[in-house]
Amino acid sequence: MEIERRSLTGWGRTAPSVSALVSATLDELSAGGLDALTDSRGAIARGLGRSYGDPAQNGGGVVVELEPGDDPIRVDAVAGTASVDAGVSFDQLLRAIVPVGWFVPVTPGTRFVTVGGAVASDIHGKNHHADGSFGAHVRRLGMLMADGSQRSITAESDPDLWWATIGGMGLTGLITEVTFDLIPIESRHCVVDTERVPNLDALIEKMEASDHLYRYSVAWIDLVATGRHLGRSVLSMGNHATLDELTELDPSALSSPLDFDPPVLPDVPAGVPNVLNRLAVRAFNELWYRKTPRRHHGTESLTGFFHPLDMVGQWSRLYGRHGFLQYQFVVPFSAVDTLRRIVETIAGEGHASFLAVLKRFGDESGGMLSFPRPGWTLTLDLPAGVDGLGSLLGELDDLVLGVGGRHYLAKDAFATPEVVACGYPRLEEWKAVRRSVDPDGAWASDQARRLDLL
Ligand SMILES: Cc1cc2nc3c(=O)[nH]c(=O)nc-3n(C[C@H](O)[C@H](O)[C@H](O)COP(=O)(O)OP(=O)(O)OC[C@H]3O[C@@H](n4cnc5c(N)ncnc54)[C@H](O)[C@@H]3O)c2cc1C
Repeated sequence: MEIERRSLTGWGRTAPSVSALVSATLDELSAGGLDALTDSRGAIARGLGRSYGDPAQNGGGVVVELEPGDDPIRVDAVAGTASVDAGVSFDQLLRAIVPVGWFVPVTPGTRFVTVGGAVASDIHGKNHHADGSFGAHVRRLGMLMADGSQRSITAESDPDLWWATIGGMGLTGLITEVTFDLIPIESRHCVVDTERVPNLDALIEKMEASDHLYRYSVAWIDLVATGRHLGRSVLSMGNHATLDELTELDPSALSSPLDFDPPVLPDVPAGVPNVLNRLAVRAFNELWYRKTPRRHHGTESLTGFFHPLDMVGQWSRLYGRHGFLQYQFVVPFSAVDTLRRIVETIAGEGHASFLAVLKRFGDESGGMLSFPRPGWTLTLDLPAGVDGLGSLLGELDDLVLGVGGRHYLAKDAFATPEVVACGYPRLEEWKAVRRSVDPDGAWASDQARRLDLL
């Protein structure tokens, strides 16, 4: 077991705090190692720190990185499932399963998250409208509880603990192993339709009409454009490519259709100034929109389609020393007017959002604190430390909560206890389950203290 005093942040690099960072195997932790380390500030699990704010930090307390064991990825090809140690990353997992014809049921926009982090945030992907969130595909969880016991649970054996843990931000216990469904694939490519859409209303119409034809669908949206260009977008929709489709569209890919070895480029160096200012973002958005063909049908690699940002290591450093916030909310489908008003507000305020994506969510998974619910979800990046950001986000919060929407805890660095209580109607139920399995508050994080989740 390694212990190191470390200043930690989330991916947005906004609120550092110093913790005892412990890297340990399950055997070391269950042999009482964690107990010996934990004091009144408690402990929290950390995966790869890809949540944006402070859920995987615990200032003054312990942060635990669970090291995978000797045989961390076990595929059951007959059942179509994988049982994976929670500290395994999607990068490691995909390198193991794609070459043998499987894909994860849900992937976020980066491969650098762990399976434990995926369950704790109940992550969603481009296929949420079709397949729901990651938690909907989990069959069994291994857990290390606050009292030191190890448990193996299912939705049937322990429904309360199960639905408090899926989306529970690590606050019910340490997830040690996850069994989940896989998707069979014939190739490492997707067949993708890409289309330029001139404004928000056209985009909404298009997504409503065509999402059901594709497993994956998401729109990049230009939040700088105003007037008749408000909400202009690039919509991309796809499915996994079959060998027949490759024969027609990309015969050169047929020689080794399941090879998967995504390139990893050098990291952005530490200490670069913020280059993603308003001018740069405006220019980037213009270029991105114009360079996209009006309509295109073709193949893209899994990496290009799902994880293009992973091509640049540590890209969050491009926001300079203040870091950045990611703001993600969902509003019901009936609240299209509010969605339009939010896009107008952001574009009108002149804050530059380099990355903004719009997506339609499908059914909820059942997680008490899971974020996705049926409706429109918008995600935007905003540089921290710029004037007027707090009042803009406050204004957006009121609009979101006013129509029964909510914010994603894995992206949050700004919410208040009131905002979370309003957005998550099952919060008190969740707290009661949490107290029943952790009466002394052994699991605690900066976010949990900030949002009054303990
Ligand atoms: C570029 C980028 C794109 C992204 N795209 C998406 C997206 O499309 N959809 C989406 O849903 N999210 C997305 N995310 C967010 C990301 O998927 C989640 O924040 C995810 O939880 C990060 O996983 P992690 O392993 O880094 O966990 P961390 O950030 O380290 O931790 C996140 C939470 O999980 C808990 N946790 C981690 N491991 C365990 C464990 N073993 N047991 C119990 N709790 C644990 C932590 O305590 C913490 O509360 C994106 C993030 C980035 C940086």
